[in-house]
Amino acid sequence: MPAIVRIALPVPLPRLFDYLPPEGAVAEAGARVLVPFGRGKRVGIVVAHAASSSLPAAQLKRVLRVLDPFPLLHGELLENLLWAADYWLGAPGDACVNALPTALRQASPLPELGMEAWSLTDPGRVALEDGSRRGGSLALMQALSDGQRTADELDPYLPRWREAGRRLLKAGLVSREQVPAPASATSTESAPTLHPEQRQAVDAVAGHMGSFQPFLLHGITGSGKTEVYLALIEKALAAGRQSLLLVPEIGLAPQAVSRLRARLGVAVDVLHSNLAEGARARAWLRARSGEAMVILGTRSAVFTPLPKAGLIVVDEEHDSAYKQQDGFRYNARDLAIKRARSLGVPVVLGSATPSLETLANVEAGRYLRMSLRERTGTHVKPPKAELVDVRGQRLEQGLSNPLLHALDACMARGEQALIFRNRRGYSPVLMCHACGWHAECPRCEKPLALHRGRGRLLCHHCGLEQRVPSACPACDADGLKPQGYGTERLEEALKARYAPFPVLRIDRETTRRRDAFENLLAELEDGRPAILVGTQMLAKGHDLPNLTLVAITSIDEGLHSLDFRAGERLAQLIVQVAGRAGRAARPGRVLLQTHQPEHPLLQGLLHRGYAATCALMLDERRALQLPPYAYQALLRTDARKRESVDGFLSDAFRALPMDDALRTPGPMPAPMPLRAGRHRGQLLLESDSRARFHPVLRAWREALAALPSARRVRWSIDVDPVDLY
Ligand code: ADP
Ligand code: ZN
Ligand code: ZN
Repeated sequence: MPAIVRIALPVPLPRLFDYLPPEGAVAEAGARVLVPFGRGKRVGIVVAHAASSSLPAAQLKRVLRVLDPFPLLHGELLENLLWAADYWLGAPGDACVNALPTALRQASPLPELGMEAWSLTDPGRVALEDGSRRGGSLALMQALSDGQRTADELDPYLPRWREAGRRLLKAGLVSREQVPAPASATSTESAPTLHPEQRQAVDAVAGHMGSFQPFLLHGITGSGKTEVYLALIEKALAAGRQSLLLVPEIGLAPQAVSRLRARLGVAVDVLHSNLAEGARARAWLRARSGEAMVILGTRSAVFTPLPKAGLIVVDEEHDSAYKQQDGFRYNARDLAIKRARSLGVPVVLGSATPSLETLANVEAGRYLRMSLRERTGTHVKPPKAELVDVRGQRLEQGLSNPLLHALDACMARGEQALIFRNRRGYSPVLMCHACGWHAECPRCEKPLALHRGRGRLLCHHCGLEQRVPSACPACDADGLKPQGYGTERLEEALKARYAPFPVLRIDRETTRRRDAFENLLAELEDGRPAILVGTQMLAKGHDLPNLTLVAITSIDEGLHSLDFRAGERLAQLIVQVAGRAGRAARPGRVLLQTHQPEHPLLQGLLHRGYAATCALMLDERRALQLPPYAYQALLRTDARKRESVDGFLSDAFRALPMDDALRTPGPMPAPMPLRAGRHRGQLLLESDSRARFHPVLRAWREALAALPSARRVRWSIDVDPVDLY
């Protein structure tokens, strides 16, 4: 028996903790254990064993008990968690905690496996007979009327059944229990015959089953990528192997799940943060036991145990949602690739607009590219985007004449249009016409946006809310004027002009309730003429076959930004938004309003396409020694006092080793120097050599933790940051 067990604990210290092994039990690596810590007890994960400790024997405490009959974090997963903690400079404990569903972070026993099954109770039958329930409740009761149904069976048919389920459960009209998961279900849909490009893609990946190889599956929305995933998952299933499918957003999960279930004829387990804790823990454990063969989830699902791994898919791989932006700042796409390597399985990265990182890996021969060039079924090419030069033009709430004409024509044809504006609220600024005063957030020193419907001024950076003053607080004049326009103002203008056609606004404000987004879009599925106006949220989601006009009111912000990724993001946005138009047999139009029609990025994108534009951007990145040809880390810091930030950053700068593999412009104010009342600063480091970069970063972090000035600030190091804000 080893003398010492080394344990990862959920504390933000980048180290392990030494304990004596438990009495009469074996604490295997990857096992959950309960240990004394400080004055309390903590759940930790056994990471390693050692012959001795640097602590004096008298200070060593003993592991209280081993919590589970088997280690939860098995070999490969534990190894990669420790790798991830090291790579993204997180604490090993943080990484292990991130991997466990919340319900397993406490010392409670493991929940029972199996599936949730719902039945009608006797009072439920009576209520169904007497017709006292309506809507979702009635639909659910009817679905249960001829016997028990598992959550899996309900999901595809009644997308919003859980709300009704909770109500009926409270009223005692239905009951819920755990039943063993069925070994197989029956698929209700058959696969289409794959077209040649899809076939090639499937064959290419299938040829690497059982060995590590990353693939890029490049195809526009609707080109049949999901069919390729499905065919590959089927192959993995046939070989008795698990598949993990990652999607960037919960919003995309329900659609994907019902499609997977209908097609594969097996239970599909879902893992995302909006799931009830018990359900999430069960899905995770089913994966751990090898019962769950198909697992779909968002970012944190990359930590799913895969003892029988066969395939990993990362859909929409370019999406920055894969990067965790606080706490343990890992990147799920990159970790998925790392895990695929350890597991010896192929990994497929799918996107209509691959990231430059991935394209560079293709160029370097590390990833294999597979392209789907056509939209399936329709043979309609995606619409070409057209620039609308708005220089010197009269704009009505930001809408030019050519755009309004296109809208008129679209409505006259009885079709649907989508207007994209990446600003919430009525207007971004409220200004006094008499004296020039404007409403500003005292905690961020940025203009407050007017949200007229709510009668509020809102800070989009810190969430501060104020009442709208009736007169100018500076000069008492009455003439406070909204400057500029957001989605709310656009909605108003479009309603005034296009009534009685419905105008639907989709932004964070109108979609706050769960399902609201789905409900809004569902209203338009019948194809009735309508105008959608909204923010980035509109780039994804439901397929609207009658949508034939897409417009972005201004793309200029993307051209001016200081962030070196702005061009890449804008190109992705344009392609994604354009992908929403002309999905059915009708051709679509895409209009982009700009003051810079000659901008090389736009010209490149319009005339040569996404891939060629990315090749140019990659050349530029190489010339400027920027990622993916260099590596970055960003030290972020904030404090109540500016001096604390400045003091810490200059100490941090001095603590950097002299190393010619390292570049830095030195301490800088953050792009938002003040936010929510806290002063912010940053220090960017770059290096051409990852191998030399990481040891420097590790040593630097230790040096920073020891600085007295570090105690007066909050700070964190972001490795491979995806945005510099
Ligand atoms: P993507 O994932 O790239 O957006 P999908 O796989 O969802 O594309 O395909 C878009 C639509 O085309 C879906 O309705 C899908 O069922 C259909 N489809 C895909 N491939 C084929 C095929 N080979 N034959 C017939 N229909 C197909
Ligand atoms: Zn004034
Ligand atoms: Zn603010």
